[in-house]
Amino acid sequence: MPVDEKLVRRVVSAVMASLALGGEGARRGIFEDMSEAVAAAKKAQAVMRRLTMDQRELIIAKIRAKTIENAELFARMAVEETGMGNVGHKILKHRLVAEKTPGTEDIVTTAWSGDRGLTLTEMGPFGVIGAITPSTNPSETIICNAIGMIAGGNTVVFCPHPGAAKTSLAAVSMINEACAEAGGPENAATVAANPTVAASAAMMKHPDIQLITATGGPGVVTAALSSGKRAIGAGAGNPPALADETADIAKAAADIVNGCSFDNNLPCIAEKAIVALDTVADELIGRMVADEGCYLIKGDELAALTRTIITEKGLNRACVGRSARALLAMIGVNAPDSTRCVVFEGAWDHPLIKEETMTPVIGAVRARDFADAVDTAVRLESGNRHSAHIHSKNVDRITAYAKATDTAILVKNAPSYAAIGFGGEGFCTFTIASRTGEGLTSAATFTKRRRCVMADSLCIR
Ligand code: NAD
Repeated sequence: MPVDEKLVRRVVSAVMASLALGGEGARRGIFEDMSEAVAAAKKAQAVMRRLTMDQRELIIAKIRAKTIENAELFARMAVEETGMGNVGHKILKHRLVAEKTPGTEDIVTTAWSGDRGLTLTEMGPFGVIGAITPSTNPSETIICNAIGMIAGGNTVVFCPHPGAAKTSLAAVSMINEACAEAGGPENAATVAANPTVAASAAMMKHPDIQLITATGGPGVVTAALSSGKRAIGAGAGNPPALADETADIAKAAADIVNGCSFDNNLPCIAEKAIVALDTVADELIGRMVADEGCYLIKGDELAALTRTIITEKGLNRACVGRSARALLAMIGVNAPDSTRCVVFEGAWDHPLIKEETMTPVIGAVRARDFADAVDTAVRLESGNRHSAHIHSKNVDRITAYAKATDTAILVKNAPSYAAIGFGGEGFCTFTIASRTGEGLTSAATFTKRRRCVMADSLCIR
């Protein structure tokens, strides 16, 4: 039987509205203002810190199950609300969060025993965490942070991006619903109904917030680091992808386009520029165009696209997270449906190469040799120390690149998203603490170390 698309859309809209605007069970954890949100999370924290690890794990299992159940809903909601990204890829991101974000298994105890007794270091909750979240992965970040923070025994007050408020509030509601169903406290995650930058600033100053996690651009990370409190800063990136002559160029072309086009380039880890050795640049760009659905842009078209994406006032937010076809349509180019990225060749200081635009538009810079390529990549990464990627089979070169870029993430011979456990080993996170050095955050990151010493006894060997 054919699917009635209109009916499906109406049902999805109705459920989304109910989730966001107060259907049965919705609006859980949503408060009129920031001080109420903090007070409720503080009350919940008194209960949360007394729960056993098994009870925390039951809550997390419910959050995982509900995230998978609602993956499409959140994906559609975010695209509809923010105008950014791609529903199919956002569904995958939600599944990834649900399946690969570490829970309580990340909370481990270190023990020393010997002649002078037994000493333990345990991971204890900070208390109430304030988490500022971005518009680019709104519900993914909230769910990922909540799983890790609850595993650590914390509760959390979220400060979402105002442009993704509905989606973010719905995610907070879902977390509380899961928590209640698993026998946990009400308001393990809270949020102010009308999120604003001023509300985030109030949260950062609030005396009951013990730790701040800021996921977003440079402004918010600097604000969090200036708060006078401990802060985990997950800031901007501008990841270069280097390709040398030892790489499998057909695979490099496929990997770069897969990573760059994922969710229309919204992830902070996604390939934002290419640095190709002169000897392979033509083949790489050629394959991206011939085999991987890229539109090669140059001359007046490139100039028009550049002016559209980066205006006199800076990055045009209306271009962020839009598809390659939509961006080309903005300059009057009608590209085929199969278009995945726009590719061009340019100098390292071309605005679309050196700025983080979060668009599937990727410029390739030619390098005369490997040393020149590394210099260029380091310049493009701009000291963010976030992510860098490389396509090479020469381990000495990979090692030299890793040392020079000094980033939290380095992906070798794969799309960038392998870094967060998608087609690569390792756990998932949507908060990569590039600025403050924790790297990929997980439950352990949201705990404090507590040493517990018994002198001269309890060593039983
Ligand atoms: P953004 O910086 O505009 O907003 C992020 C959050 O910070 C929002 O909640 C916003 O309301 C808040 N905010 C902004 N300025 C603030 C201030 N001065 N005081 C208090 N709160 C403030 O970012 P965005 O456009 O939503 O997301 C994209 C950016 O985030 C990109 O730069 C991307 O690289 C980065 N990002 C980084 C990570 C990471 O893990 N490192 C993850 C996702 C996104």
